[in-house]
Amino acid sequence: KKLANAFKSFGLRESDRVGTLAWNGYRHLEIYYATSSSGLVCHTINPRLHPDQVSYIVNHAKDQVLCIDLNILPLVEKASKNFEAVKAIIIMTDNKNMVQTNIKDDIEIICYEDFINDHSDQFDWPLLDEKTASSLCYTSGTTGNPKGVLYSHRSTVLHAYGMNLKDVVPYGVKDVVLPVVPMFHVNAWGTPYAAPMCGTKIVFPGAKLDGENLTNLMNDEKVTISLGVPTIWLLLLNYLRDSGKKIDTVKRLIIGGSSCPRTLFEGFEDEFGAEVIHAWGMTEMSPLGTVNMPSLGEEPKDRTEYYDQKLPQGRTIFGHQMKLVDDDGNDLPEDGITQGRLLSRGFWVLKEYFEDSSEKDRFLDDGWFDTGDVAKIDQNGFMTITDRTKDIIKSGGEWISSIDLENICVGHPEVANAAVISVPHEKWEERPIVIVQPMPGKSPVKEEILEMYNGRVSKWMIPDDVIFTDNIPLGATGKILKNKLRDQFGGHKIS
Ligand code: AMP
Repeated sequence: KKLANAFKSFGLRESDRVGTLAWNGYRHLEIYYATSSSGLVCHTINPRLHPDQVSYIVNHAKDQVLCIDLNILPLVEKASKNFEAVKAIIIMTDNKNMVQTNIKDDIEIICYEDFINDHSDQFDWPLLDEKTASSLCYTSGTTGNPKGVLYSHRSTVLHAYGMNLKDVVPYGVKDVVLPVVPMFHVNAWGTPYAAPMCGTKIVFPGAKLDGENLTNLMNDEKVTISLGVPTIWLLLLNYLRDSGKKIDTVKRLIIGGSSCPRTLFEGFEDEFGAEVIHAWGMTEMSPLGTVNMPSLGEEPKDRTEYYDQKLPQGRTIFGHQMKLVDDDGNDLPEDGITQGRLLSRGFWVLKEYFEDSSEKDRFLDDGWFDTGDVAKIDQNGFMTITDRTKDIIKSGGEWISSIDLENICVGHPEVANAAVISVPHEKWEERPIVIVQPMPGKSPVKEEILEMYNGRVSKWMIPDDVIFTDNIPLGATGKILKNKLRDQFGGHKIS
């Protein structure tokens, strides 16, 4: 309430955007509620992006104020040179830890605790129309710039109800939840709304997501349920095995964002007594679409079958629908064999990207949204993701645009064409490699090509390897045939 008052007296008005660049912490939660509940829009931004992407997103959203964690300041200092509408940057710390910055003079720099200190702890929350925007999150579109997904109070509350259905997440008053999934990534999968709805205690991990920190936090705070991407859980599982420590209070781990490998199901359940639940979703759908909870009549005959049942991404949640179509938009059967484009619609699925119509062909008749995933669905409604039509790579839960990487590579004077594909990776799930077709008679050098990426994309986005080929296959319209390249080079081992 103090923060809502502070925003109001700063001059922010209904629907103004407040950006955040922050890890999972209590001040971030304060910002979530002070903004949305007073009619402002909480715009969470990924601090792992390149400064140019951050400034694009901040400018596109017309953020007026940014709230940032102290250790994200170096990134914001770089990005701020191009900020257009930002009037103030609030550093999420107290007076004792406040620092000097290199940010241009027309942006006011404020200490968070000083900002709220003198304000009243009473606030008359406005009665908002349910369709009022509450939060905003950008995701990598399949082409071009990042795309904004604007959530409403209605979609957010319905999604939180959906999460709390018995066989979905759900939270309870005796649960303690540790959201490892970042609060800048689809509102930590809705936990900051769904957990308080049930009076559930939330534990915030901050920036340190290594195995030791997570284990200590889980044990000290008696965490019962936690959520995150496979990469994080793989680190935790390895740490637990090496250290001999336990996480006895943890009953459920919700794993999504990428396909959950079988080793995680088996390792956590057999060795540490924590049930792994596989979920699928997208930024565009708040994010939950499916959760895998085997039902009555599906009793497994042994442990192998038990884990087989847990592998699919699961069944749809009430309030969300999905179906498969072919490339011409015809419905496909749900027979567990036929694969098709996966469409989604529902109370918490977006209808358009925020002030960006460049991908309007993904919004189909009757409210269906083309997810860009390829899947099969069986007779009992269990969906399995089998492929992706969208040309992006997901590494450790974060997107890398193949197109951005290709555009940089073709800037090399000896490169005729370049294609970026992903190869499987034990720790990061997927990593990008670049396939290069040299100009006739030229022999570009691998190191020179990789050097082109320095400073242009974040370090973790730089391809892990370069492969040279005489011929990048093209289709009839001149588009690179990525499927052919995936068949040919998808098994490439990074040197
Ligand atoms: P994001 O919007 O960053 O949350 O990414 C959404 C995309 O991540 C989906 O469209 C899928 O391609 C992928 N994804 C999310 N969850 C899973 C999962 N459980 N298995 C496979 N892919 C997933």
